[in-house]
Amino acid sequence: MIERSSPANRSAFNEDAIRSLPSSVVFQTHLGELRSVTQATPMGQRVSSIQLAETAAPTVTRPSILVVDDEPLYVELIADILGDEYEILMANEGMRALEIATIKMPHLILLDLIMPGIDGYEVCRRMRADQRTCDIPVIFITGLGEVAAEAKGLKLGAVDYITKPINPELVRARVNTQIRLKLTRDKLSQLAATDGLTGLANRSYFDKMLAYEYARHIRSGTELSLILLDIDQFKAFNDTYGHVGGDDCLRRIALAISGVVVRATDLVARYGGEEFVLLLPETHLSGAVMLAEKVRNCISDLALAHRLSSAGHVTASLGVASGRFFPGSSIPDLVQKADLQLYIAKAGGRNRVAFSAIEGLGRCIGQNGS
Ligand SMILES: [Mg+2]
Repeated sequence: MIERSSPANRSAFNEDAIRSLPSSVVFQTHLGELRSVTQATPMGQRVSSIQLAETAAPTVTRPSILVVDDEPLYVELIADILGDEYEILMANEGMRALEIATIKMPHLILLDLIMPGIDGYEVCRRMRADQRTCDIPVIFITGLGEVAAEAKGLKLGAVDYITKPINPELVRARVNTQIRLKLTRDKLSQLAATDGLTGLANRSYFDKMLAYEYARHIRSGTELSLILLDIDQFKAFNDTYGHVGGDDCLRRIALAISGVVVRATDLVARYGGEEFVLLLPETHLSGAVMLAEKVRNCISDLALAHRLSSAGHVTASLGVASGRFFPGSSIPDLVQKADLQLYIAKAGGRNRVAFSAIEGLGRCIGQNGS
């Protein structure tokens, strides 16, 4: 179990967990920003034993391209052609290419067909079968006249091909086109997953990640926690300060929650209206309750005026549910359990945290309110 308070553990955990997430939908929501994992998590040290080169300025904003070829001459030539515009990663055989692709998640892969060990077809097939790499476009590098080989590569999901001997202008043109398409797709994916008002993940994205994390936690046998948060007496706040004031309140609370949630693998989302949800992978109940208390305190500390609130300022109630799930169980409604705790927190007087642990099929094994 990961201790939330250990920076060393947190770092190692983040890296492993991020690597296991779907590449097309991964982002973190700290401070309301949406950032791709490759931008958020420099992984240079992990791949230092691999033939890896990062050219030119040490910026992380340039799109990255993985060049895979068993002939160093071609790798260096392509790096020379594209290195001014892109971050270039290199591999000289298929298994290393898969390793780098999984860790670094480049925007594009230029993949030689004929290599010792696993060939380009097999690399492409394995990438397509892995949800972490299935969305990374692949351009095959082939010899002249290999029409059948090109057709087979395209059927495997390659987006284009480049023929040897390499023509620099054609390489630039084909690569630029595919990078532009990839960046557009990534942007659309992020927009589709974002709540427009707060900049947090939206309900749709949360639902996807809950299903994903649930399946992952059945395999790992570790605990998954969830916090539901509701702003107290928000209807009265809107009635008093208007909807513009209400929207500003929601934005400030979203920012405050994001500032408290420091693990990149935790997800903060707007659940709907004045409700927020925190999905906490591999987190036991005590860690989740501790985080819920921090969130409650940080919202209270904002001291947003609310004259119809008994506290005189904006507060929130939070329900926490945490559990370990097993194969063969029905999908436990973690949200429902957290929602029940939220109801208990509200009924107990608001501005508080209530929590519950569940096991297996959702049997309640403990319950408390504070
Ligand atoms: Mg070759």
